[in-house]
Amino acid sequence: MDFIQPVINRIDTDILIIGGGAAGCAAAIEARENDPQARIIIMEKAQIERSGCLSSGINAINAYITENQTPETYLEYVKKDSHGLIRDDLVYSIAREVNKATARVESWGLPIMREKGKPLQKGPRSIRIKGESIKPILARKVKDSRITVLNRVTATNYMLHQRRVTGAYGFNLRNGQCYAISAKGVIITTGGASGLYRSSNTGEIAHRMWYSPFNTGAGYAMGIRAGAEMTSFEMRFIPTRIKDSATPTGILAQTFKMPQVNILGERYLKERYSFNNKKKATTCERLYYMFEEIKEGRGPISFTLDHLSPEQIEDLKVSLLDMSPAFLLQWTANHVDVCQEGIEIATSGPYIIGGHTQSGYWIDRDRRTTLPGLYAAGDVAGGAPKKYVSGCWVEGSLAAKTCLAEINSGKAEQTNETELKNEIEHIYKPFFLYKNKKDGIFPREMETKLQKLMDEYAGGISTFYELHKRRLQIAQRQLEELKEDSKQLLARDFHELNLCHEVIERIEVAEVLVVHLISREETRWPGYQTRTDFPDRDDKNWLCFLNSTRDPKSGKIQITKKEYNPQKLLEGF
Ligand SMILES: Cc1cc2nc3c(=O)[nH]c(=O)nc-3n(C[C@H](O)[C@H](O)[C@H](O)COP(=O)(O)OP(=O)(O)OC[C@H]3O[C@@H](n4cnc5c(N)ncnc54)[C@H](O)[C@@H]3O)c2cc1C
Repeated sequence: MDFIQPVINRIDTDILIIGGGAAGCAAAIEARENDPQARIIIMEKAQIERSGCLSSGINAINAYITENQTPETYLEYVKKDSHGLIRDDLVYSIAREVNKATARVESWGLPIMREKGKPLQKGPRSIRIKGESIKPILARKVKDSRITVLNRVTATNYMLHQRRVTGAYGFNLRNGQCYAISAKGVIITTGGASGLYRSSNTGEIAHRMWYSPFNTGAGYAMGIRAGAEMTSFEMRFIPTRIKDSATPTGILAQTFKMPQVNILGERYLKERYSFNNKKKATTCERLYYMFEEIKEGRGPISFTLDHLSPEQIEDLKVSLLDMSPAFLLQWTANHVDVCQEGIEIATSGPYIIGGHTQSGYWIDRDRRTTLPGLYAAGDVAGGAPKKYVSGCWVEGSLAAKTCLAEINSGKAEQTNETELKNEIEHIYKPFFLYKNKKDGIFPREMETKLQKLMDEYAGGISTFYELHKRRLQIAQRQLEELKEDSKQLLARDFHELNLCHEVIERIEVAEVLVVHLISREETRWPGYQTRTDFPDRDDKNWLCFLNSTRDPKSGKIQITKKEYNPQKLLEGF
């Protein structure tokens, strides 16, 4: 390839939003509605019409205050399901606004299913939608709002003026051009991190996973490098999904009330763990007991359709069309006798995300991160589990309002030429190493090494996601070596250059994750975070957040315990 020096696009803007997914689109539209003159740019790695978690459509708004609920009951539910530890202020601020945020998107064209005028409930706190086109709907509104979208430009690092974030760097995945964007305020909305662990699928379909495989933790990695405070990485998310199609199972359990059975047809949660008599299992406990059944030789686990009428089965098929036509095709083609065998489920991940669990930037109520000039929203932001799509919209709006209010008086910093030179070296190094025919390693090979070591030593699928300090320390050592090796990454084209950056991001996120996993010496979230060396929950010592900061100079990761005081968090609401 004829590539000697990159073309550099220097751009100056008011607000830079990195990531054009659910939270990014909401942030951009909110900013435009509040300021018709503001210069707003979305830097998007893919193409915003079909990017991120919403790319293939969804069939429900999973965070919604239905008729019998209030923001207070929502908060209570999220806290209970998260085993007593959440940022009450963040969750509450989301719960108060989710219906409004949903109504806005409905007014842009999102079809909400209704019965007698009321939204049709999927579960106690969720409603059903016809969401196949949810992403094109958001993208169209962004376009109509006169927002500049730089599609296929992936962010690589923040611009920094001392500790202040003053913009970001990136490159175009198709033509390799460099972008240096100075901004008065930056909102990070790049989603969570997938692909840190070996996938439950293998070979050519290894990238077939539940979470967007293109959300590789860029936003986390950029923050970690710049010294931002991160929280709760140890609360990993491991979803159960319809086997081989990665289809979410909420619609099966909640809307169609399908029970989970083992290979013997036993409704094991009720029969063996008697949750119906004592208490309802939380999301991660259900996962934990599923593993127990499999370990005991009673897997695989399925949802049974025994009790469904033909009309309900038809309704189920229709609802699967909104985000999982692949499974429906298998079913319709009779590749699986679903009515006879049930719908088999399997796990996916672990993922690091702030939208289902709570890993991400430590933010304040107004969505400021600990780095001045940087705001975070959506899956990249921590502290508020179960925010789902509507919570991401709320956070995007909140971040945009704060950002706008704080930048009006400021001005964008000029690009620092030394920093730009260093960043160009960082971005294109794998490309130039290959051109100069140095020996090295290609990114797919490194990705396999990373995923294998995380799987075997940091609680992946091959160990039922279980964790032990000694194994985690092995992971830590191997990650150090891998990081050293990553200096020898090679890229033959821009696609591979992107893969190099993705694997570097993943390694940096994995390093922080392993420190978090080692540090929490209890089992708070069985299933997500099962410590075989510390099997019990220990509120006395561990009902607190674990936050981490990496020193930008020494690279050392510092962990701190952050006091948990729910009353204080809710003061002023
Ligand atoms: C399969 C699946 C099904 C789901 N179903 C539902 C549902 O039915 N109901 C519900 O309420 N919620 C659902 N969710 C959750 C919801 O979709 C997410 O919580 C939400 O979309 C997250 O929004 P976000 O903006 O943080 O991330 P995303 O929407 O994923 O957006 C992140 C964006 O950042 C971009 N990006 C990543 N890296 C870079 C980079 N380096 N530079 C520039 N851009 C970058 C990505 O391309 C993407 O566009 C589902 C999630 C998944 C994965």
